[in-house]
Amino acid sequence: MTKPAANPIDWAARAAAVPIDGRALIDGRRVDASSGETFDCVSPIDGRVLGPVARGAAADVDAAVRAARAAFDSGRWAAQAPAARKRILQRFSERLLAAKEELALLETLDMGKPIQYSLSVDVPATARCIAWYAEAIDKVYDEIAPTPRNALALITREPMGVIGAIVPWNYPMIMAAWKLGPALAAGNSVVLKPSEKSPLTAMRLAELALEAGLPPGVFNVVPGYGHEAGEALALHPDVDAIGFTGSTRTGRRMLEYASRSNLKRVYNELGGKSAFVVFPDFGDLARAARTVAGSMFFNQGESCNAPSRVLVHESIADRFVEIVAEQAPRYQPGHPLDPATVMGALVDDIQLRTVMGYIDAGQSEGARCVTGGRQARRETGGYYVEPTVFDGVTNTMKIAREEIFGPVMSVIRFKDEAEAVSLANDSVYGLQASVWSHDINRAHRVARALKAGTVHVNQYDEDDITVPFGGVKQSGNGRDKSLHAFEKYTELKTTWLRIDG
Ligand code: NAD
Repeated sequence: MTKPAANPIDWAARAAAVPIDGRALIDGRRVDASSGETFDCVSPIDGRVLGPVARGAAADVDAAVRAARAAFDSGRWAAQAPAARKRILQRFSERLLAAKEELALLETLDMGKPIQYSLSVDVPATARCIAWYAEAIDKVYDEIAPTPRNALALITREPMGVIGAIVPWNYPMIMAAWKLGPALAAGNSVVLKPSEKSPLTAMRLAELALEAGLPPGVFNVVPGYGHEAGEALALHPDVDAIGFTGSTRTGRRMLEYASRSNLKRVYNELGGKSAFVVFPDFGDLARAARTVAGSMFFNQGESCNAPSRVLVHESIADRFVEIVAEQAPRYQPGHPLDPATVMGALVDDIQLRTVMGYIDAGQSEGARCVTGGRQARRETGGYYVEPTVFDGVTNTMKIAREEIFGPVMSVIRFKDEAEAVSLANDSVYGLQASVWSHDINRAHRVARALKAGTVHVNQYDEDDITVPFGGVKQSGNGRDKSLHAFEKYTELKTTWLRIDG
């Protein structure tokens, strides 16, 4: 007898009933902005207003930073034994998984990604990140220096104090978790400023952390606009470090804010224009083409590491482009709450206009639009764009130089290895890159030559919490994930002891 299929979830019914609470969370309590002002949280699925969100500004940020500092100074979190912090953060991770469907629904309603991925990627990755840093924190040892026998020098890592986390809208929970995991596990207090385009899950994360036993004041969330709440947090004189993920433009401002205030540490995780380089000696062209389509169109192309510059040897480029174009129907945008949808809505009408502007620029600069290029599902009132592939792109065109952050791929042809490396590196960005070759020497040679924080060989999607994530050049200077992230949220301290006798 075959097992009856599990009842599918009626996401539309759930969406109509899900509570939307846009208040900030400061010192363990949900509060309105002190001004009483709000802004509308709009769903990109259909342009509908989901509800009001507190418009946090300088006074709210100040209240959150004071709460965070008081919690830190009291030692009620920082002074707990690592194993005790571990247990609370593990419970936090368990709560995230228990609230999986609610969190996934909020994420999809708020920023338009397909529900299947909010459920299978965003919530599990967020929970795993918190659990991983929880597990790590009572296994990381400090050092004793090899000093002369009459002295002992301890080199310890101390929590910094108050961390400001400012995150973007493309993976709202995951980006927050990449800061929260190491910062909280190390004993810091955190003030999180989510993007005004996707604020809802951040406050739920903080509520779930409280329920798990995180003391009030340790994890605060102030929603609001970048130029108001974001600026106030980055300028605050009592914030010790800013963990920032977002655009290179805003990353520059973070450095200015630090220099204008207290020289706080700034860790920037910024934009990308990653090169995907395919040589003719990689036998399985179809696999490379399917991979680049999957990686490029995942999350509507709104991924910092999307392989948006595809460099293909001229001898195989026609066939490669044909296979990529054949993949396009699989990625046609659908309703994000339909479990079969693989590409959803862009985050808002501004992003829609930005992406359509780049498509126009590609066309007017002479690139050939092989597939896509149009807005889709207009009748819904939401913000959808077809998966789009441009061939005949040169590396000087706007679509090759600027980060589009939408489902638009540029194919650039090259003649030989030297040209491929030079084109790949001719970008202000250096987040990720990929080389496809079955010649082991070439694969190593090119991987070494590519200037990027991560280089993939013959694949693109490998990713794990155990490895650092971040870029070089104007893609930033920080590294999220892995044990290295503890370095960002701790200070090295040296303690000398004299030993007499
Ligand atoms: P953004 O820079 O516009 O905003 C990011 C955050 O900064 C938001 O919370 C925003 O409110 C805040 N902000 C904006 N202006 C501010 C200001 N003047 N002062 C203080 N805060 C301000 O970026 P976005 O559009 O939200 O996100 C997309 C960008 O993020 C892309 O460039 C993408 O590549 C990048 N990103 C990078 C990574 C990475 O790990 N390198 C990961 C995800 C996204």
